[in-house]
Amino acid sequence: DMPTVAIVGRPNVGKSTLFNRLVGKKLALVDDRPGVTRDRREGDVQFGGLTFRVIDTAGLEEADSDSLLGRMRAQTEAAILEADVVLFVIDARAGVLPADKPFAELVRRAGCPVILIANKAEGGAGMSGAYEAFSLGLGDPIPFSAEHGEGVGELHSALQATL
Ligand code: GDP
Ligand code: MG
Repeated sequence: DMPTVAIVGRPNVGKSTLFNRLVGKKLALVDDRPGVTRDRREGDVQFGGLTFRVIDTAGLEEADSDSLLGRMRAQTEAAILEADVVLFVIDARAGVLPADKPFAELVRRAGCPVILIANKAEGGAGMSGAYEAFSLGLGDPIPFSAEHGEGVGELHSALQATL
């Protein structure tokens, strides 16, 4: 069976951009508005000799929904349960925000292997945010840019060591 990798984190950190980069196609909708639809996407990945299934979570959210957080949480929990490893994504430019914490808590509680991705760190931007990411207690962050493809080698090594 193919191992499963779940991409987890609050909205707008770049999960779908990372998903698309891994899958090599634009299967996931990337948008900076926290609104409209929410969907879960899966794709098969061949990444430098590694083969796995990847799940993108908590895509675009329905705006103004009372049950939004509950549904995001449920979707994230389901993906974590299926996952052999979680890619936990933060926005390194924004740093660690309160909104990151409930997602980090779900991952910690599941106790499965986690790779921490400090995204949007292209060109060395967001190094302080990457540093803050240590406070999540999810291990050493990988400075990454899903948009520009930085940190891909480090992510590959981390996945290789975990899968
Ligand atoms: P998601 O809600 O976590 O799935 O985030 P998206 O993948 O939809 O991305 C949210 C926003 O962040 C979009 O405007 C993306 O273009 C932007 N974004 C994603 N990855 C990067 C990155 O590596 N660097 C920068 N600067 N922006 C990014
Ligand atoms: Mg998304």
